[in-house]
Amino acid sequence: MTLVEHIRGESARLASLCTACGACVSACPMTPYAAGVAEAGPGAVATGMRDVLRDGPGTPAALAWIAACTRSGVCSAACPEQLDAAFMMRLATWRAKGALGEAPKIPVKEDTQYSPKVKAFARLTLTEEEQAQWL
Ligand code: SF4
Repeated sequence: MTLVEHIRGESARLASLCTACGACVSACPMTPYAAGVAEAGPGAVATGMRDVLRDGPGTPAALAWIAACTRSGVCSAACPEQLDAAFMMRLATWRAKGALGEAPKIPVKEDTQYSPKVKAFARLTLTEEEQAQWL
C-alpha cells in the first residue's frame, strides 16, 4: 500500500465513523482564531471537515478551522465516538494543503530552513562517521 492510499483509506474510514456532532469543534481552543466558525456552528464545521476527508471542497469555516489547528489534541478527548479526532484533523490538514496532488485549499507555508534544521539536528545525533556518509 502506498502512503497516498493509506491517507485516502484512513480519511475515508474515519469520515465514515464521524457523526459530525461537532463536539471536537466545541472543545477546540483555536475556534476564536478561525473565521466563520462561531457563525457556522460546530456541527456544520465538523461536516465541512468530514467533507474534506471525503475528497470534497469543505466549507470556508471548516477550512479556516483546519488551517488554525495547532494540534492541541483536545478534540480527541472530546469525541463521544472515541475517534482520534486529532489524527482526523491532521489528515484534513494534509488534504487541505494538497498533499495528494490536489490544488491547496488553505495557505501552505514554505519552510526555507527545513533542510538546515534537519542537518543541525542530525549533527547532534549522528556519529562523525555517519555524518560523513549522510550529510
Ligand atoms: S467529536 Fe468525533 S464524532 Fe463528533 S464531529 Fe468530532 S470527530 Fe466527529
